[in-house]
Amino acid sequence: MSVLVFADNSEGKFKKTAYEMVSFGKQIAKKAETSLVVVAINASEVDSLSAYGPDKILSIDDDRLSTFNAQAYAACIAQAAEKESATIVAIDSSNDGLYLAPILSVKLNAGFASNVVDFPVSLDPFTVKRKAFSSKGFNFTEIHTAIKLLGLAKNSIGLIEENSSPEKESFSPTLDDQMFNVTSKSIDKTTGTVTIADADVVVSGGRGLKGPENWGMIEELADVLGAATACSKPVSDMGWRPHSEHVGQTGKPVTSNLYIAIGISGAIQHLAGVNSSKVKVVVNNDPEAPFFKAADYGIVGDAFEVIPELTNKLKEFKSTL
Ligand SMILES: Cc1cc2nc3c(=O)[nH]c(=O)nc-3n(C[C@H](O)[C@H](O)[C@H](O)COP(=O)(O)OP(=O)(O)OC[C@H]3O[C@@H](n4cnc5c(N)ncnc54)[C@H](O)[C@@H]3O)c2cc1C
Repeated sequence: MSVLVFADNSEGKFKKTAYEMVSFGKQIAKKAETSLVVVAINASEVDSLSAYGPDKILSIDDDRLSTFNAQAYAACIAQAAEKESATIVAIDSSNDGLYLAPILSVKLNAGFASNVVDFPVSLDPFTVKRKAFSSKGFNFTEIHTAIKLLGLAKNSIGLIEENSSPEKESFSPTLDDQMFNVTSKSIDKTTGTVTIADADVVVSGGRGLKGPENWGMIEELADVLGAATACSKPVSDMGWRPHSEHVGQTGKPVTSNLYIAIGISGAIQHLAGVNSSKVKVVVNNDPEAPFFKAADYGIVGDAFEVIPELTNKLKEFKSTL
């Protein structure tokens, strides 16, 4: 038996999530007293995974897999899991991960637990802690199938360094042409800005900013911090900002290390999208704003005074580094 994780990459480069997946798998493998196998598809820098403790890396290189294809990716991971006799298989809970999970679950005849936020509480019965109710609660789930499939929620365990010298093997799964009946022909994507999904820091503005003409100060603060910009629902509904920036229950979830909410009241539907961020900082001129109850740090003040001051201080600080 072994533990197997899928380390996803973007254009060959691993994101932090991939290293978190390896960290996750390693700790489970240690607890289960077995080895950790990592599967990478068309990745250019597999050596960087060694910092997080894999015992073996299976590299799959195939031009047909250059863009995500759920059927084919699931076939790759399932065949790797079968080859390595993996009894615990883990993928991330990204959009691609959620697309992969049901296909993989069927292929492996595995029970699937999504949104896992910690290492298994117990291996027998196999029990994992998961986010529930839009991250407002937790649920402990037992999986009784022979193979367990876990979807790890981003930023749940962070990175755990553990150097290893993994065995490296190139692996060529059998991929049926029919798996490629649906293929992406081209991708248009925003360049030059950090997306909410990838950002470690997110600077978000609400209706308290009064209008789109005031977003310059949000963008300036985001620029200094290397952050992505985001907003509340009414802001995108009014067309002040694009819908791609709308955070919350009906928008995008944010799993950043730092979420700065400026002029956002903290309605429950907004909080549902930011609960998974590690540190929440709130700037609001109303000391009774509900967001302060969910915040780690709060500044009661007028955003139009606080934000330019904060940006200047951060610029000064950065110039001393
Ligand atoms: C089914 C449903 C789904 C929803 N989904 C979402 C969702 O996904 N995401 C979401 O965000 N909302 C969602 N909403 C809307 C949500 O209920 C709130 O209406 C919304 O989040 C409020 O946005 P806001 O905080 O920007 O605006 P407001 O509620 O108007 O709050 C503005 C805040 O700015 C502060 N402020 C004003 N001036 C200043 C200043 N000069 N300096 C500092 N602070 C200032 C105010 O004190 C206030 O707290 C949903 C609602 C429903 C019913």
